[in-house]
Amino acid sequence: MRRFAGACRFVYNEALALQKARHERGEKKHGYAGLCKLLTQWRNSAQAPWLRDAPVHPLQQAMQDLERAYENFFAQRAGFPKFKKRGQRDSFRYPDPKQFKLDQVNGRLFLPKLGWMRLRLSRAVLGKPRNATVSLRAGKWSVSIQTEREVELPVPQATGALGIDMGIARFATFSDGRILAPLNSFRRHEARLRHAQRVLSRKMKFSRNWKKAKARVQRIHSRIANVRGDYLHKATSAISENHAMVCIEDLQVKILSKSAAGTAENPGRNVRAKAGLNKSILDQGWFEFRRQLQYKLQWAGGALIAVPPQNTSRECPECRCVSAANRLTQARFRCVQCLYEDHADVVGAKNVLARGHRVAACGEVVSRCVSSAASSKQEPAEATEREATHA
Ligand SMILES: [Zn+2]
Repeated sequence: MRRFAGACRFVYNEALALQKARHERGEKKHGYAGLCKLLTQWRNSAQAPWLRDAPVHPLQQAMQDLERAYENFFAQRAGFPKFKKRGQRDSFRYPDPKQFKLDQVNGRLFLPKLGWMRLRLSRAVLGKPRNATVSLRAGKWSVSIQTEREVELPVPQATGALGIDMGIARFATFSDGRILAPLNSFRRHEARLRHAQRVLSRKMKFSRNWKKAKARVQRIHSRIANVRGDYLHKATSAISENHAMVCIEDLQVKILSKSAAGTAENPGRNVRAKAGLNKSILDQGWFEFRRQLQYKLQWAGGALIAVPPQNTSRECPECRCVSAANRLTQARFRCVQCLYEDHADVVGAKNVLARGHRVAACGEVVSRCVSSAASSKQEPAEATEREATHA
């Protein structure tokens, strides 16, 4: 499996290098069909005879991945495609359900050129399998099987609406005053990780002890990822089970977390502080939190609404006065007009909720994050009235 993953990586990197070279010469880049033709040539050449030992479909899938990477780059969803490195996200995918067989009763899986293999099913596979991805993480191989099935449109069980303010000091503050403590899974393991990395750097590369040290670093990384994943899943499940509408700020984490150092011509200011903020943002997994909320709410029949973030922390939720002076400190909020007082993050969450209601009720600028038109249907009636009087 390591060899197959290696072959996929090789093919991806070769194709990327080729596309880059073509671009530099001012030629058009190969399409998927062109890449597949090349793949056949490579597999038949004497240069890399071991390519023929790897199954062809995962190799083609690697070409498709490269195409996707370029697409995402052109659509400004991602940076320019990067070369893959050995030992980082080693994986390969069988893109067609005809290529693998899953025997759930006996807990085994058939993969081309590998045969039947035992596996531990972490969960029942529901629906028709569509593709299978085999990946290596921290020394463990796992397979993810994507499936397709019809699901009845859910009738939402919950009725409440919730506004969420995302932050650094508190991971999330809810409009009802509850909070989620910061995750900082990375920070907590940082010392351990740093130590392990230092040990690794002192070892002779590729020696037996280097491999052991490397495995330790990877284990810590995977532990961090597991802790974070568990925390986020529990939080988002609880939220989406108990609310029909959830509103969050449409923060562009990508912009917030832009490199703090800036460029050579335009060096950044407050580099250290911003780098710390970036680390916190990425560490806390806001994107992942939002992604999970969106699909889990959809499963539960609810909706996620992203509202424009301007002034959510400066506006008074009572009299709607907007002033920078409303913020006494980073944490305290007191309105200069009506003297309404609360924690600044709670105020932010309340404002987010109020805006979410306005978005749902009168179609104020709706962000791309809105998952379905169902939001207006599930929106509580009394809230609409309250908002209407405000308008
Ligand atoms: Zn006020």
